[in-house]
Amino acid sequence: MKTTDKGFNTKLIHAGAFEDEYGSVSVPIYQTSTFKFKNAQEGADCFSGKSGGFIYTRIGNPTIRAFEKKIAELENGYEGIATSSGMGAITSVYMALLGAGSHIISSEAVYGPARGVLEQDFSRFNVEASFVNTSDIEKVRASVKPNTKVLYIETPANPTMDITDIAACSRIARECNLILVVDNTFSSPYLQKPLDFGADVVLHSVTKFINGHADIVGGVIVTKDPGIYKRIRHSMVYMGCNMDPTQAFMVLRGVKTLAIRIERAQENAIKVAFYLQSHPKVAWIKYPGLESHPQSQLAKTQMKGPGSMMSFGLTGGFNAGKRLMDNVHLATLAVSLGGVETLIQHPASMTHAAVSKESKLAAGISDDLVRFSVGIEDAEDIISDLRDALENA
Ligand SMILES: *Cc1c(COP(=O)(O)O)cnc(C)c1O
Repeated sequence: MKTTDKGFNTKLIHAGAFEDEYGSVSVPIYQTSTFKFKNAQEGADCFSGKSGGFIYTRIGNPTIRAFEKKIAELENGYEGIATSSGMGAITSVYMALLGAGSHIISSEAVYGPARGVLEQDFSRFNVEASFVNTSDIEKVRASVKPNTKVLYIETPANPTMDITDIAACSRIARECNLILVVDNTFSSPYLQKPLDFGADVVLHSVTKFINGHADIVGGVIVTKDPGIYKRIRHSMVYMGCNMDPTQAFMVLRGVKTLAIRIERAQENAIKVAFYLQSHPKVAWIKYPGLESHPQSQLAKTQMKGPGSMMSFGLTGGFNAGKRLMDNVHLATLAVSLGGVETLIQHPASMTHAAVSKESKLAAGISDDLVRFSVGIEDAEDIISDLRDALENA
């Protein structure tokens, strides 16, 4: 069925699906490494790209293809490229768009390994990187150098919830001939479609909202331009960070409920944010749905809703944050986010424990910051869990 002219929920269910010879309603798992050619000519046509037939699963596979087509439609893009993980998506994009002597500008509060691989690995190949507060658009403009090729932003950023103006970045990208890449993991295409605001490439850790059930790791890239698509697909296939057919099957199943999961989690998150905002032990809270968020107006212009991620700090600082972790029972103490279950994390004592205090502060990660990913449980239960834990924190 043609779904390009249909609504988002219809696309979630039907886009990318194809009919197999048995009339299978869900897309089957094509668990095969390789595909048989009927004859030498068919093999030749597959390799030349003339027939579009499948050759080998690292290069392409029907189950993976169905997910790539679906996500491309959801992001209003040209084509999708599924990867083994979110980092597989990020490194494929870097590999395709950067080279010796080139420069990338990235958000200061970008996902840690997305920064680490530039500083520790791409630097060995003479790729330069600047990390700036991309919420300050003048800082972005001032960082552009003659060799800048890529402007890479994450919005909302992890875990600071800082928001970057995608349309303003896209204007700078057009002026300076840069490729604008947006990590859209925190919003998912349901809440935010960066390509509509002028981004060239959008990528996700599928592990989070898109799959939504904390049971697989995966990534995906969507481009607007066929030329950029070709370059990134080439890098992904040559580096071998393809998605696996079973992984694709799981994501195809998980993504169908993306909109209803997000609506529900967001409804809960709004209630949780108001509760935390008025709690005497909560020193501050950053949630795009609260007027107190410095960019709540910008959030309204580029996001359909404030989502279900928030960060907050306790008046008791680092130790109170740790005690809160030990006293929650419903919220699960774990990294990751965007699943049906509520997750809580304390970056200063967990994910960012090894990061120097200066780097943490520069990235906006204070010692008291607690990251909260609100799930789809009953809001009353999430709030009562927080109420009890805060009493002991
Ligand atoms: C988790 C995450 C990634 C990395 O994805 P993996 O699937 O863990 O490799 C990248 N960006 C953001 C914003 C993330 O939250």
